[in-house]
Amino acid sequence: MLQCHVKGCNDPSLSFPLQLKDVELEQVETEQNDDLLANLLQKIDWNALQMTATELGLASLPETIPDDPDSDEAFMIKLHEVLMEMNITQGKMECRGCGHVYPIKDGIPNMLLAEHEI
Ligand SMILES: [Zn+2]
Repeated sequence: MLQCHVKGCNDPSLSFPLQLKDVELEQVETEQNDDLLANLLQKIDWNALQMTATELGLASLPETIPDDPDSDEAFMIKLHEVLMEMNITQGKMECRGCGHVYPIKDGIPNMLLAEHEI
């Protein structure tokens, strides 16, 4: 979702992750599920998540995943907050490569492109 899809915008160091701007966040408390978090942790791009969370001013995540994340309670709580509880209600995502802006409205990012961008 945080990847730019504009044609010709394929420098991976710029087109991912999209930069979140002018966002409104809401925190929705949910029950923490460590199994789910451990599973997600294996799939996500940590650098992208860490950078995005920092830009949003969220609970600072460490620059690298701890060696034994499952037993690091404070880390798991932060991860849960950032991944599961923070919803972006309004704002936009801007590509660092081509500058395309994807608006976010009512919590839903609009990833549609104009015809000339596909
Ligand atoms: Zn782009």
